[in-house]
Amino acid sequence: MENLSSVSATPGPFWNDWRWQMKNRITDAAGLATYISLTSQQAEEIDQCLRQFRMAVTPYYASLMDPVNQSCPIRRQAVPATAETHLAPYELRDPLAEENSSPVPNLVHRYPDRVLLLATHMCSMYCRHCTRRRLVGQEDRAITLAELERVVAYIEANSQIRDVLISGGDPLCMGDAIVERIVARIRRIAHVQVIRIGTRVPVVMPMRITSNLLSMLKKYQPIWINTHFNHPRELTDKARAACAAIVDAGIPLGNQSVLLKGINDDAETMKQLLLSLVQARVRPYYLYQCDLSQGLSHFRTPVSKGVEIIQALTGNISGYAIPKFVIDAPGGGGKIPIGPEYVVAVEPDRLVLKNYAGDLFYYPNI
Ligand SMILES: *Cc1c(COP(=O)(O)O)cnc(C)c1O
Ligand code: SF4
Repeated sequence: MENLSSVSATPGPFWNDWRWQMKNRITDAAGLATYISLTSQQAEEIDQCLRQFRMAVTPYYASLMDPVNQSCPIRRQAVPATAETHLAPYELRDPLAEENSSPVPNLVHRYPDRVLLLATHMCSMYCRHCTRRRLVGQEDRAITLAELERVVAYIEANSQIRDVLISGGDPLCMGDAIVERIVARIRRIAHVQVIRIGTRVPVVMPMRITSNLLSMLKKYQPIWINTHFNHPRELTDKARAACAAIVDAGIPLGNQSVLLKGINDDAETMKQLLLSLVQARVRPYYLYQCDLSQGLSHFRTPVSKGVEIIQALTGNISGYAIPKFVIDAPGGGGKIPIGPEYVVAVEPDRLVLKNYAGDLFYYPNI
């Protein structure tokens, strides 16, 4: 088989410029071949998948891929696989029924006190396991001013909303001025207490976390950020520096991972990931069961796998290193925590409890 190329691309003078990273994203098999070795058959398969789901990989993230190992956890999150075109019967286009909980375009209102604002469909890298793959990457457009005003009018009319989560897509793919327009407008709503930003840029394009961005965001505190590390190898020096800068700006930083088969579905890898996050001052928040989005069967593990991993870690590593394992219920039920069970029995006057080591204890239930 012909080997297209195995020459590794080396960082150039613009490597640390996020706009250069955005402009030079890899979008086809020929581009990938400067980072990883691909047979012509693999290249053809990739281009085939791209007719259904788009690819974009920042040069930075591509440089973390193992050039030869096809099961490299970085590579599997970024490079399309033929398995994506296989649809399982229980898979759904919109598994979280977000379109039914959307009172105005670009907004999902599922919980009483908080909303999800989809600020763009663009991302710096299109994760192969993305829940919103039906939308993400289809259109490179940010929310317009008129759309933002409709969202704001809805939030203003619903005074129970105290927490606005700005996500997408990845809102930090947009320039500072557009991000500021959105954040500043939301901040002017009197009853909004907390603004959250969901972004994967600390992982896939850490140079986006500039001092300009952070000094702008600091004006609109309290802001919280959640990012999306899935594997310990993603915590490079650059990624850790981006996390430190966010935390130094007074912005609490959390992490949401997705449980992915062959990437992080074993207790040892997950432990390394969680401990590395805590060392990088990032608080593990959620571990998601992989959603029922279409073409993700090759990433999905049984639910029991996640429970097993959380059980193996609970008690053995610091409590704040352990995320909540959740299933985002199909049909729009929201996130449901699925934990190992520590209550063995409920008797009329006492509980039978099991600790992390499996020892039994009684506690009066009065
Ligand atoms: C996840 C999510 C939120 C935020 O939920 P938290 O549990 O508070 O992090 C809000 N709205 C929607 C639609 C969500 O999916
Ligand atoms: S960054 Fe988030 S929204 Fe964008 S492709 Fe990845 S998982 Fe999807």
